[in-house]
Amino acid sequence: MNSKSCKTCQAPLQADDRAIYMKLVSRTAQQFLCIDCLGVKLSCGREPLEKLIRYFRESGHCVLFR
Ligand SMILES: [Zn+2]
Repeated sequence: MNSKSCKTCQAPLQADDRAIYMKLVSRTAQQFLCIDCLGVKLSCGREPLEKLIRYFRESGHCVLFR
């Protein structure tokens, strides 16, 4: 168990997966979910999360997405 893999399914995490988790769940998280598992947790599926990631990245305002 480490911060480089999803705490639920053990999938390897991308920087974006950790960033969106920090943004939506906890800035101080030590363990993270991949966006599939985060989508399940938030009952929204991964698609809105991918859109959010794109939005934050393109807006350039969020320090987590650079
Ligand atoms: Zn997962």
